[in-house]
Amino acid sequence: MQVCLTREAAVETRFYRRFAENSLGLMCSHDLDGILLWINPAAANSLGYSPAETVGTRLDYYLAPEIRPLFASYLARIRERGTDSGRVRLHAKDGDQRLWMYRNILTDEPQLPLHVFGHAVDITEQFRAEQALENLFEQAPVGYLDLDACGKVRRINDAACKLLGYSKQEFLAQHDSPGIAGLFRDCAVAGPGPRLARFVRNDGHVLSLEIHARSIFEADSSFVGRLCALIDASDRVQAEMEIRNLNAQLEAKVASRVADLRKSNAGLQEFAYVASHDLQAPLKQVRGVLEQLQLSSKDPQTAELLRGCEQDIKRMLMLIEGLLSYAVASNPAHVPSRQVPLTIAIEESLMNLASVIASSGAAVAYKNLPPIPVDESSFVQLFQNLIGNAIKYRGPEAPKVGISAAHAENFWTIAVEDNGIGIDAANLEQIFEAFRRLHGREYAGTGIGLAICKKIVERMGGQIWVESQPGQGSTFRFKVPR
Ligand code: ADP
Repeated sequence: MQVCLTREAAVETRFYRRFAENSLGLMCSHDLDGILLWINPAAANSLGYSPAETVGTRLDYYLAPEIRPLFASYLARIRERGTDSGRVRLHAKDGDQRLWMYRNILTDEPQLPLHVFGHAVDITEQFRAEQALENLFEQAPVGYLDLDACGKVRRINDAACKLLGYSKQEFLAQHDSPGIAGLFRDCAVAGPGPRLARFVRNDGHVLSLEIHARSIFEADSSFVGRLCALIDASDRVQAEMEIRNLNAQLEAKVASRVADLRKSNAGLQEFAYVASHDLQAPLKQVRGVLEQLQLSSKDPQTAELLRGCEQDIKRMLMLIEGLLSYAVASNPAHVPSRQVPLTIAIEESLMNLASVIASSGAAVAYKNLPPIPVDESSFVQLFQNLIGNAIKYRGPEAPKVGISAAHAENFWTIAVEDNGIGIDAANLEQIFEAFRRLHGREYAGTGIGLAICKKIVERMGGQIWVESQPGQGSTFRFKVPR
């Protein structure tokens, strides 16, 4: 091309030539027979050539062989319309194929002969990445659905088709049917987190589908759809249902067992109460007869025997009385007695223990106790048992008993502290069991006093325990709701 340019035009031409030669965009020009007139280094290098190697050659030489026959129609189009655009597959020097997106125009520069100016972008890498993603979607072992912003299915992969029981064509043709469209439309608007849905397959089989949906956004942050992963959760859902059913059955069984136990417990308590109550009368009669016999007996050996029998009867009566109190304390339908201030309940129990306190020289101290109202009969019995034990299990010193109270959260904790013989660590829990005694006949007792205390405290929704060391005294504490 031999053109005479003015000075300004020459400057401008140099400017644009440098601009084009340094551009990363792909540029070239060719005549109407397809002969390359000029190419910038970026375009030539994209195909593995230098500009000098390519100028003067025909452009179709660089096309992928299968599209070379289309080159004539391209030239015809551009001659006719003055422009052409699209994608073109090219053959690089090293045999690699490149994909260019181009827009070419026929120049209408009056001073120049007609030629085509081409501008292209190499989209090979982008295309390959798209292909890889497409393959990943298609060949994934997990079922995937691609929905548009309205929930319409754009793509479905083979695994999803297999799971849902449709061929790709069937599914895409039916995706407007109420079952499918409704289900996936919901997915398009549903929030994050998996969603469980019931799906009827083409063969009528019902699936529990777990759908994990991810929103897809454009570069400008506009919402364009959702990618859904489909997981067959039928086995899990079935197992969960079975577990729920089993749990319900188990709970029903436990409830019925508990009701049976309550009934038989109530029966047992009733029996213990009636038996111990009714046994007292004939035993008292036997004791009376034994006393009579002792008085009238002339034989000292017989009198000794009768005294032994009488002692045993006395002990039996004590045990029966303990049993009776225990049965009463265990009764959940306990009828509360009147409410009295805490110190009154303590004083009443001290009155009941007056003779023991006097004979032992015990000192019982309490002060600054809270003015809380308590159930009279329960608390009198509690303090009577605890203070009575503190005196009974005294050490070498005269018994000293201290009563104090503290509150924490919703409970009052009341402590009864003594300076007695103390209790071995191994027995701190056992002593609250019925008939559990740590001593023989050297200390009179039935082993039921602390079991009664435990029943009373638990009936009130509280707890009782002891802290002690042998020879150091003991502190019994019980906490009851405020
Ligand atoms: P009992 O006094 O009739 O034997 P309890 O149920 O009242 O029955 O007490 C159970 C056991 O706990 C007692 O036999 C005794 O060994 C021990 N015990 C109870 N209170 C005290 C205490 N304050 N000090 C030392 N041991 C105690």
